[in-house]
Amino acid sequence: MVIVMDCLFCKIISGEIPSSKVYEDESVYAFLDIAPSSIGHTLIMPKKHIENFNEMSPEDAASFFKSVNKIAKGVEKGVSADGSNIGLNNGTVAGQEVPHVHIHLIPRYESDGGGG
Ligand code: 5GP
Ligand code: ZN
Repeated sequence: MVIVMDCLFCKIISGEIPSSKVYEDESVYAFLDIAPSSIGHTLIMPKKHIENFNEMSPEDAASFFKSVNKIAKGVEKGVSADGSNIGLNNGTVAGQEVPHVHIHLIPRYESDGGGG
């Protein structure tokens, strides 16, 4: 596994920086966002350091989204969510602050009033 020394998420994946881990397998890591938009807000990412979505191969993207699908269903069930926002900020101009590709899984609840 290539760990990029100055990447925050690589440091979390390697355990150098602690996180509330939600899921891990050989290629994917997921943990709770430190500033959650809702209960259960989870960041899901490939372990391999890839800066943004455009740098992923079609094969890696397909396999990554298979994991996202599985983790999203598990998290939503685990926190008894009624739905979720699933998104990816791709590039600085789109609001990506950490240059290690990641999905935001934001569980939503009937009680949160809905909407964006
Ligand atoms: P982005 O803006 O890159 O799409 O999202 C980065 C996310 O990482 C933000 O939602 C932010 O709250 C989260 N984040 C930043 N630093 C940390 C950290 O040290 N630990 C955790 N768990 N989340 C972080
Ligand atoms: Zn990284």
